[in-house]
Amino acid sequence: MSQFWKPGTERPQGRVVDDEEGGVLFLSGSHHSSSSSRYGYASIDKQRQRLPVFKYRTAILYLVETRATTIIVGETGSGKTTQIPQYLKEAGWAAGGRLIACTQPRRLAVQAVASRVAEEMGVKLGEEVGYTIRFEDVTKPDVTVLKFLTDGVLLREMMDDPLLTKYSVIMLDEAHERSISTDILLGLLKKIQRRRPELRLIISSATIEAKSMSDFFRMRKKRREPENEEHGLQVEPVILSVEGRGFNVQINYSEEPVQDYVQAAVSTVLLIHEREPAGDVLVFLTGQDDIDASVQLLNDEVQTTGKHSSGLIVLPLYSGLSRAEQELVFSQAPRGKRKVIISTNIAETSLTLEGIVYVVDSGFSKQRFYNPISDIENLVVAPISRASARQRAGRAGRVRPGKCYRLYTEEYFLNHMSNEGIPEIQRSSMVSCVIQVLDDDAKLTSPTGFQVAEIPLDPMVSKMIIASSQLGCSEEIITIAAVLSVQSIWISGRGIQKESDEAKLRFAAAEGDHVTFLNVYKGFHQSGKSSQWCHKNYVNYHAMRKVLEVREQLKRIAKRIGLVLKSCESDMQVVRKAVTAGFFANACHLEEYSHNGMYKTLRGSQEVYIHPSSVLFRVNPKWVIYNSLVSTDRQYMRNVITIDPSCLLEAAPHFYQLQQSNHLLR
Ligand code: ADP
Ligand code: MG
Repeated sequence: MSQFWKPGTERPQGRVVDDEEGGVLFLSGSHHSSSSSRYGYASIDKQRQRLPVFKYRTAILYLVETRATTIIVGETGSGKTTQIPQYLKEAGWAAGGRLIACTQPRRLAVQAVASRVAEEMGVKLGEEVGYTIRFEDVTKPDVTVLKFLTDGVLLREMMDDPLLTKYSVIMLDEAHERSISTDILLGLLKKIQRRRPELRLIISSATIEAKSMSDFFRMRKKRREPENEEHGLQVEPVILSVEGRGFNVQINYSEEPVQDYVQAAVSTVLLIHEREPAGDVLVFLTGQDDIDASVQLLNDEVQTTGKHSSGLIVLPLYSGLSRAEQELVFSQAPRGKRKVIISTNIAETSLTLEGIVYVVDSGFSKQRFYNPISDIENLVVAPISRASARQRAGRAGRVRPGKCYRLYTEEYFLNHMSNEGIPEIQRSSMVSCVIQVLDDDAKLTSPTGFQVAEIPLDPMVSKMIIASSQLGCSEEIITIAAVLSVQSIWISGRGIQKESDEAKLRFAAAEGDHVTFLNVYKGFHQSGKSSQWCHKNYVNYHAMRKVLEVREQLKRIAKRIGLVLKSCESDMQVVRKAVTAGFFANACHLEEYSHNGMYKTLRGSQEVYIHPSSVLFRVNPKWVIYNSLVSTDRQYMRNVITIDPSCLLEAAPHFYQLQQSNHLLR
């Protein structure tokens, strides 16, 4: 028997209820006392010893000693990520200048976990404990022994050091996420182990799908591997299951399908705050847009209605947050205050947030989908799987019995949600990855292919940068690439749409968004990189700081691979040419002139529209190129620039040809 309620209407009540198996969602029977400092004043050592993995310390070290591959499964928060690397170091795996690596699919998780481990070890982040994510290397050669990094960065490191010789142990964490880079690493590391039997692999995951991993690493199928056995090393992988801890979570379903999950999430949070005892709230939405919108709605509520919503501290959690913002999320709310964290699915398993008692689950996340027929890849807001929904609910039961509010009906959960998600590798364009892992049999072209592979960006962006060097506008294009690497440089949100649109107009360029970005960057630069300037112009200051950082890094890479750094001053024609050279495959033609005109992609004749956030929205130029697509009710092009069709022919003669009727064809 489950709870039904309508967000914002009735109070959910009742006993602990079941998940779909008819049993109580019971994470474990052992209710240890919490390690959180909020509920006790334990020293860091004591806290570490209370974590569920601690009981398995010896077993883990023994297995790593004797097995090539160890698979560790344990509930989120049991200490896999923060403890196991420390155990390995304590046991001597970092002796003799070797490194211990721990990968995460998400950048923010890498930063958060590394800083937590540095804190536990009492060292400065970037010394013994460091991290590397794209555009940010916080490690010190010969000093760093525990290195946290994204799976993508580790994959890239294989370009310089194919056998990853500096690592003694590699822990592929969050393997259940099945991120594309982790999946590729699993394959490559299995091969590396043949050549480097001393390399140890730990695969850790939050769910028990470990059997297939184990089968994958069972190497003695046909060929025997005598050399491994000579080392006294067992090649059969083992699965160690860390007994988790957790409390019952009562599940409440929405009575009716929810129309607007942002609004529903906001009302549910207010309802919890009004009626439920103390305890923090974690809300799962999908991305920066809807998270910022709901943060704003909640803050407005706090300001206007004052009384009953005072005491709420509302914080967003998504990648791209500044350090200070991240710290707020992890810090304890002051006495008498209730923290509400509104997050992407990063808080599903990669990060442990203390003090969460209530979870609000929208039932959606942003997922990458790739259509191989049209060759279009985009980020889509899509329903999560039942496995994800269960993980999300579990986050409410870390410190005491909790409650989860699902913004969808039970009928939907039982009959329409897929059981498991589809691995990213099956729904992504493989271009970036394939470029990095090609070997001598499938050579890259020289020099462009090699240069593209060197740049830690999407190949289209890389191609654009390389073209800009030849066209004499690399300064401008590098700025554009840096802006494209952040989610958005604009501050947006409900209630300020008009003001932010007006601000945008001050920078708007007829050529489109890319040139508009250059105008914003110029203004920001001239203001002395002032945060006040950003505030006044509805520009996101933190995003601009990130742009500066990425820009510097891209300039260093450009120099290293021998590109010419040069500004074209005000010649925007060459800027458009460089963009076209990189993104020719994303060219579109206006098909239907209307309020917001309908375009078709040249490659797949897909119907697409200009996104309302673009300065070209409702301008409807005849030919455009877009940077990415987002799907909501329609396919929208984000970051759009006008082009000259003759540039397409120039940029990709192998790709497009001119028909007699003067129509471009693929
Ligand atoms: P797992 O990887 O198994 O999900 P972690 O190693 O991330 O678990 O977390 C173990 C414990 O460490 C958590 O339960 C929490 O008590 C503590 N912890 C982890 N990260 C932080 C942090 N940033 N701030 C405070 N405590 C943390
Ligand atoms: Mg973890």
